[in-house]
Amino acid sequence: MANCAIVGINWGDEGKGRMVDLMTKDYDVVVRFQGGGNAGHTVINEKGKFALHLLPSGIFREGVVNILGNGVALDPENLWIEMKDVMEKGVELTPENLKISDRASLLLPWHRDLDELEEQRLADKKYGSTKQGIAPFYSDKYQKKTILAGELFYPEELKAHLADLMEWKNLTLTKVYGAKPYTMEMLEKWVETSCKKILPYICDTGAFLKKAQESGKSILFEAQLGSLRDLDYGIYPYTTSSNTTAAYAPIGSGLPGAKIDRVVGVVKAYSTCVGEGPFVCEMFGDEAEELRKSGFEYGAKTGRPRRVGPIDIVATRYGVEVQAATAIALTKLDVLSYMRKIPVCMHYELNGEIIDRFPFPAALNYAKPVIEYFDGWNCDISGIRRWEDLPREAKDYVCFVEKAIGCPIQYVSVGPERDSIIIR
Ligand code: GDP
Repeated sequence: MANCAIVGINWGDEGKGRMVDLMTKDYDVVVRFQGGGNAGHTVINEKGKFALHLLPSGIFREGVVNILGNGVALDPENLWIEMKDVMEKGVELTPENLKISDRASLLLPWHRDLDELEEQRLADKKYGSTKQGIAPFYSDKYQKKTILAGELFYPEELKAHLADLMEWKNLTLTKVYGAKPYTMEMLEKWVETSCKKILPYICDTGAFLKKAQESGKSILFEAQLGSLRDLDYGIYPYTTSSNTTAAYAPIGSGLPGAKIDRVVGVVKAYSTCVGEGPFVCEMFGDEAEELRKSGFEYGAKTGRPRRVGPIDIVATRYGVEVQAATAIALTKLDVLSYMRKIPVCMHYELNGEIIDRFPFPAALNYAKPVIEYFDGWNCDISGIRRWEDLPREAKDYVCFVEKAIGCPIQYVSVGPERDSIIIR
């Protein structure tokens, strides 16, 4: 089985978790290669309903090895809370089925504080951070001002390293934000209560992956968020602070030379966007509320109502290109069943011109959606499992989207459960 990446094509929350959960049956290893606890992957299976934040979504499959790669924002405190939660629901986590890269950088306790302090300082100019410390973490990672997970095995050096970092970070906390400084006692407590819990899972995952690859094992790379949140290719500065694109999977996983044969891009049958930033196709009022309710569009991590809109062909085509997607999973088609007419954002209008190319982020503020309407199917499709059984209007909608975005739609999801899927 070839290597595959599962990625988001739009703003995130497309249903990647359910796709990874479904596809893991064909893979030996699942790797999370970027991001942290700032988004949630919802998985519903026979063990229950789970909102995963950092754990790979392959954790529910027996025999699958799950890896947190070097590219993730490893928050020991929250990871342990999440691990405990899934273990309490009967999911076994052992150093055999969960491995954490010794090269993953640790999200330190002050990263969450800094997120909160900066959002307070920004007040109404805030970016809508989830306050999980992700942006301060990645800034520090690239300044080489954090700790690698593997350093937890070297207590003496760790203590000295933490003391240096604390001295430096206390300057920002106290002098810039007027906040309380950290003490070594606080950090030692954090090491004892949070870091030590995850110690048994930390290892050289690069070596493990190399061996797995050499012995012909298949690897699934699981991304968080979507193309439009990618630090380099998204709607900067309303992006996340890491690369959400498949091209980053080899770097962030621990297999820099890996060849990714398949990229499955997950697209929702309509659009959603959490937090601030330009969202050209946004719907408002009752129309938006109805769609939000039908799709239950409230953030898995924050519970925030998501902004909603029709599928955005301009943004989705761009997302497909950025991810170099080879196949698409179109999710939540069932959510549109209540609509008599289905709106689609076909183009943007920018400065009086109709455009099809996703514009530079600052120009998005001036772009207007050009909407066209398709016939709805107006019946429950959530029980359908074969393509030929879908109503004609639903098939027409899927085929139209497929053609417009230039990538084959191989999966059509009609419900959140593992088997609510049509494979074409
Ligand atoms: P992710 O971050 O991309 O994994 O997406 P989320 O998990 O945040 O959001 C997807 C939500 O939609 C979850 O609550 C899923 O259970 C749900 N979901 C996924 N696919 C479908 C589908 O085809 N139909 C319906 N009704 N819900 C779905």
